[in-house]
Amino acid sequence: MVRLRFAPSPTGFLHVGGLRTALFCWLYSRQQSGKFIFRLEDTDQKRLVVGAERDLIRTLDWAGIEIDEGPGIGGGYGPYRQSERLEIYGQHVQKLLDEDHAYPCFCSSERLDKLRDEQRAKGETPCYDRLCRKLKKAESVQRVASGENHVVRMKIPENPETIVLNDLIRHSVTIETSQTEDQVILKSDGFPTYHLAVVVDDHLMQITHVVRGEEWLSSFPKHLLLYRYFGWDPPEFAHLPLILNPDHSKLSKRQGDVAVEDFRDQGILAEALVNFISLLGWSPADDRELLTLTELIEEFSFERVKKSGAVFDREKLNWMNQQYIQKLEQHDLFRRVAPFVAKTAYGGQDDDLLKKAINILQPRLLNLAETPNLLSLFFDENPQATDPEVLALLKEENSKKVLAEFIKQLETVKSLNEENLGSVVTNVQTATNIKGKELWMPLRYAMTLEAQGPDLKLIAGFFGREKCMHLAQIAYEL
Ligand code: GLU
Repeated sequence: MVRLRFAPSPTGFLHVGGLRTALFCWLYSRQQSGKFIFRLEDTDQKRLVVGAERDLIRTLDWAGIEIDEGPGIGGGYGPYRQSERLEIYGQHVQKLLDEDHAYPCFCSSERLDKLRDEQRAKGETPCYDRLCRKLKKAESVQRVASGENHVVRMKIPENPETIVLNDLIRHSVTIETSQTEDQVILKSDGFPTYHLAVVVDDHLMQITHVVRGEEWLSSFPKHLLLYRYFGWDPPEFAHLPLILNPDHSKLSKRQGDVAVEDFRDQGILAEALVNFISLLGWSPADDRELLTLTELIEEFSFERVKKSGAVFDREKLNWMNQQYIQKLEQHDLFRRVAPFVAKTAYGGQDDDLLKKAINILQPRLLNLAETPNLLSLFFDENPQATDPEVLALLKEENSKKVLAEFIKQLETVKSLNEENLGSVVTNVQTATNIKGKELWMPLRYAMTLEAQGPDLKLIAGFFGREKCMHLAQIAYEL
């Protein structure tokens, strides 16, 4: 059975890159009837953000990604927070020490800083000079026993080797170990570093596929060596391509939003974001762009993930969101819009009226967050025209004629609705001999104060006779 994990560090919000990693893991786990595991990589206590774990899990839940095993959820391979697994790491580090694959390092940070500065000054890549690796075992054992401050480093083979990774996306990737330093695996505070914890946990949690961002590609020699030292078979690896800004730099907050929460707060639907994210570096065999979660589960494969960076195209996300909003059932749209509306003056409006208004807006909505603004069209009692173009047109003689006749015609009907607006306006046309844009624009401007907007019939139907007369009167008097 396949087992894939998403292993974020609780250092803040869920980045769209993180969502993509989680999504690909989840899609594959669902396709293969496997398990999706959430593991919290909280070994860097300095970077810990309170509440981040809860937010990460909630955000995944919002995106429709269900966790099978994880903190607070359980499973047979816990604990799922690395900070609760220190004993396990300690035992594994001891094994590496005993078998001479690791050694204690007593170098002070001052010495290491100085070393780095000297190496940089010589134009070399900073790298630990393995001073403590040369210590006699008895000496280091004694120094550790006496409580001397130290870290533990893994040994990179003395003679450089070429380590080959058969990545599911990049196929054969090779790195010379001469470029790899003796990595710290256990810090002086007793916490492991990422490299040790990730290998130990992926093995003990029986992870079959490690899916992560390309930035971790350079770490695989250390990881494969650790698998070798422990005598374990490594899992499959898939390193996902970078996500890029439109100018092809690495996606960054400076050029737009990167937190999943930001998109949610802007009224992007979870299914639209998930669909959009799924296409960052992956595509189905045909050229479909709109895919449901079920279709994504069926279609997903690591073979179809590209190596090259994927550009984050905000326009495309907006387009997708609109497509998804248009497809929502009315009650579903209302449920999702409700939290955005609740925070505004329209929160107290009659539910049926709100539903009717939202229904009219639906075909044009780009996101949920713009709904309250658009609702002003329906609920403002005395809207004020401020747009100079609108004012200029309404003040034209023909506009006045149209509006006056419209009011007159409304006096002759019992009610105004979607069905009879057409005949009322035809009567205005017959009486004034004004047609086309000159006829319709003053009416649209009077009712909506905008050139663009929902179908006028729907708006007239929503307002009814009295309000339309009132609005036509205000516009006439301008
Ligand atoms: N904790 C690492 C991160 O936040 C996980 C990397 C991995 O998946 O191995 O990126």
